[in-house]
Amino acid sequence: MLHYHTVPVTQFQQNCSLVWCDQTMEAAVIDPGGDLEQIGWEIERLGLTLKAIWLTHAHIDHAGGTGELAEKMQLPIIGPQEGDQFWIDGLPQQSQMFGFPPVQPFTPTRWLHDGDTVTIGQETLNVRHCPGHTPGHVVFHAPQIDRCFVGDVLFAGSIGRTDFPQGNHQQLIDSITQRLWPMGDQTVFIPGHGPESTFGRERKMNPYVGGT
Ligand SMILES: [Zn+2]
Repeated sequence: MLHYHTVPVTQFQQNCSLVWCDQTMEAAVIDPGGDLEQIGWEIERLGLTLKAIWLTHAHIDHAGGTGELAEKMQLPIIGPQEGDQFWIDGLPQQSQMFGFPPVQPFTPTRWLHDGDTVTIGQETLNVRHCPGHTPGHVVFHAPQIDRCFVGDVLFAGSIGRTDFPQGNHQQLIDSITQRLWPMGDQTVFIPGHGPESTFGRERKMNPYVGGT
């Protein structure tokens, strides 16, 4: 069985999620943007063995702690899709701009592509490429528990910003309607910021993608 626990990190209250397999207690951390000490406490409290870092995209609040954590714990960095290379290259500038601690540079161990899978312990999640907020944004879908970790693609009542370099509004709408909605109305999504919701609820109520 797959479990998860979400820890808001950084001044942007980014939803960093620990996901783990209860047969092995092996865990992956999705989007360790910062506050690594706090993430470490949760890992200890939950009795997990951290095995990998999974990234949805390379904005500072999602990826800022990646290099340091990967080096400290000798972890592979999985994702995002390579369209986000320029955001990874720009992490030091993002860090300065938003007053984050200095960022340790990193290179993903494995880029992800649409249709890939990622495994933790005995559990497998499906990867979908959902560009628009950033070109290399991916999401992690766990159909066995009807959950999807969507980063900054979709929020309860809102959608990701597309006014960054290489953002694309129509692409984001297509990602949501063509790649997220088919996962089913019952699917609960964990957004990069704010509370969880379901795809069914957003299809009805979200002012940006309601009625799609
Ligand atoms: Zn973002």
